[in-house]
Amino acid sequence: MPQPTQPKWALVAHGGAGAIVRGDLTPEQEAVYREAMATAANAGAAVLRAGGSAMDAVEAAIRVLEDDPLFNAGRGAAFTAEGRNELDASIMDGRNLAAGAVAGLTTTRHPISAARAVIEGSTHVLLGGEGADAFARSQGLEQVEPGYFFTEERWRSLEKALGKLGLAVPPKPAGAAPPSGKAALVHEEGKYGTVGVVARDHRGDVAAGTSTGGTNAKRWGRVGDSPLIGAGTYASNTACAVSCTGAGEYFIRLGVAHRICDLVEHAGLTLQAACDRVVQHQLTALGGAGGVIAVAPDGAMAWSFNTSGMYRARVADGEPLAVSIYKDEI
Ligand code: ASP
Repeated sequence: MPQPTQPKWALVAHGGAGAIVRGDLTPEQEAVYREAMATAANAGAAVLRAGGSAMDAVEAAIRVLEDDPLFNAGRGAAFTAEGRNELDASIMDGRNLAAGAVAGLTTTRHPISAARAVIEGSTHVLLGGEGADAFARSQGLEQVEPGYFFTEERWRSLEKALGKLGLAVPPKPAGAAPPSGKAALVHEEGKYGTVGVVARDHRGDVAAGTSTGGTNAKRWGRVGDSPLIGAGTYASNTACAVSCTGAGEYFIRLGVAHRICDLVEHAGLTLQAACDRVVQHQLTALGGAGGVIAVAPDGAMAWSFNTSGMYRARVADGEPLAVSIYKDEI
């Protein structure tokens, strides 16, 4: 990836990796995905441009993606086999390794803000299930009916997956929203669709965040890599900030996000080389599919994925916003 020279700030975002092949998306679908990635990246860039912190930029951009039904995070999340949405998220501050995460949320509108609240309002790193929603509520975070997260398109993906497994389709959740204009353009990109953002602010601090509905038709209670610090998310000013998307079970076993930071810090690899080594070699060798985005304290940006596509965007001080989807794009 071409790099700007020592940018004051930099941000990279992903909207999930998977089977996204040129020609699979209609021109209309492609346009809405590109626009959605641009809107989220711009929301984060606005924070950084105004002198805000990497943490604030990551949270702001992810909240936009969580509200967008195109992505498997917040509204538009994938369903468990029981027909529920269980949301996971994490965020990490490279300045001091402060980290917060939530798993299995069902009523909190913005899981990424709940993850951040874990840092700021508790002495813990990871909260799960009902306790995590109760904590988010106690921190004043907006609560919604579980039906708020529902989209007809993700429900159809669930029906398909359950059909293949020979399992019965559960009743739709109460309050399920009727098909909406934008959600009808969701592209079924395989199992993934998590969102993540990494940023470097004008002070040189880095941060990373990830938010997801998890994998389609997952068992209830299943937790993937996204809320696990070191697996789906990691940030350290001594190395880099990383957010992952893909088959979580493989990312957990490799500790992908931390492994990339380790290679940068202790093996002297460039950010891009570290991402490629872990994704193209180690993850692929283990049989896992997915991708990563990363940013370093010097402003270097990188991404790497072994799927046919990954929704992604990058923007830096002095470098215009670039959005790409397919493998053959920059
Ligand atoms: N990594 C996520 C998980 O396993 C899924 C995704 O990236 O879409 O929960």
